[in-house]
Parts: sequence; structure tokens; C-alpha cells
Amino acid sequence: MKLLIAADMEGISGITRWEQVNITHAEYAYGRSLMVADVNAAVEAALAAGVSEIQVSDGHWNGTNILLADLHPAARLHSGNPAPLAMVQGVQNGFDAAVFIGYHAMAGTPEAIMDHTWSSKNIANLWINNQLSGETALNASLCGYYQIPVLAVSGDQALAAEASALIPEIETAIVKTATSRESGVCLPLEAAHEIIYETVFQAVKKSLDGKGPKPLNPPSPVPIKLEFMHSQMAARASYLPGSVREDGRSVSFLAASMPDAFFAFRTMSALANE
Ligand SMILES: [Zn+2]
Repeated sequence: MKLLIAADMEGISGITRWEQVNITHAEYAYGRSLMVADVNAAVEAALAAGVSEIQVSDGHWNGTNILLADLHPAARLHSGNPAPLAMVQGVQNGFDAAVFIGYHAMAGTPEAIMDHTWSSKNIANLWINNQLSGETALNASLCGYYQIPVLAVSGDQALAAEASALIPEIETAIVKTATSRESGVCLPLEAAHEIIYETVFQAVKKSLDGKGPKPLNPPSPVPIKLEFMHSQMAARASYLPGSVREDGRSVSFLAASMPDAFFAFRTMSALANE
């Protein structure tokens, strides 16, 4: 089995606040050490369960959070940004399965550590195929387009609930329980790493036995809708040819396929940010 480990940072064990995931803040150095430790627990589990090839996609901020020297030597690293498929870069190159480590709940989720969808500055809501979606749905749908199932996720309790509602058979590793958007109860690191290890190990075993989640692939064409924080952001996003300004803050786009939907999403999000 060839496995992609897609890693974000807000759902990493021990992380509760923006300073810890912000590259300009002193707290970030510790945050990135926590991130690679969670990823390494997943790598070790995958190897023990029989995975033959592992690639890690560094999906937070500029994609250079994981220091190669600290990453398990069995894994290759997709590093840097912008990569074409961003948080799941590499998935287009032929994998059997993916797991998401350090993920977080979608924008607007109550009691969810750093709940947001792509950009907490710009994006209030995202709908893919008329379903309210966060980064788990966005990236799992991209994986699904390439026939790749997402076997497991790690993050807080809200992320686990969101992922289970989206992908019923997914395995979830809950490493912390949010008590607000920037507070929570964190497991000791050793216990958190053990949970990630057990979850990924079981998920990979199941998949190798022909069980577990199916790929999540919305039927084509794929309608998407973005609700921005402010009307001016929607105005700028609507400069994308083919987009439709739905109302003051919302713009929609009908994409031919999931990758096209993703590129339209990224383009509109970038335009909003101008
Ligand atoms: Zn992130």
C-alpha cells in the first residue's frame, strides 16, 4: 500500500491557540515540533500495519512546518507552497489511501479548536455539492476524485464528529477536547501519540483487508459556493469568469470536476484576499 499522510497544524496534539501555529510567533517553534511528532506516530503505525510507501504532505501555512531532519526517515515530504493540490499535494500521483493528521473543524463549529475553512480572515462558509463543507470534506473530495479513500483523521472532538458524519467508516483519533475556539483539554503527548498510532494502525489494517471507507467523490459537475466575511471580498471573487454573485457575500461556481472546483475555490479565495 502507498499511503499519503496529509498534515495540518490546528488539530495537532497540545495545540490550542493561533500563536502556536503562526510562523511569525515565538510559540510556533514548539508547535512545529508537536506537529512532526504526531506525523511520526502515524508513519510508525502505517509501517507496522504493512504500508510499503509513505509520503507526507505538509499542508499548513507555507507548507514548511515539518523539518525534514525531524521526520521519520521512511517518509518522503511534500514541502512548500503553492503546490497544485495544496494540503493533499501528491495525491494525484497514484496512492491507495490517505490519512489526515492535525485537522480541524469547519468554520462556525461551536467548541472546536481554531475552527475555520481555509482562511479565517476571508471565508465564512463553503458548500461543495450543496453540502456545508470544511477542509476535511474539501480534501477528502479531492482524494476521492483520484479514487483514494481517507481512512483516518486526528484532531479534536469536533473534527472527529465532522469527519464521522462525512465518512461513516472513518477512524478518528481524538487528541484533545475543545472548551472554546482557543482552549481545550489536551491529552499527555505520549497518550496522544499512542491514540494516533492505534487509530492509523487499525485503519490501515482494515483497508488492507478490503474494509473501511470508500472514496468520497462528488458527482460531476461540482457546484461550489463560497460565503465571504465581507461583501467586498465576494465582489473581488466574482471577477473569476464563470462565477455567479449570489448575494452580498456569496459567490458560486459550477466546476466540471472536483479538481476544477478546487482551483476555482483557490482562485476566488485568493482574489478575495487581494
Ligand atoms: Zn492549518
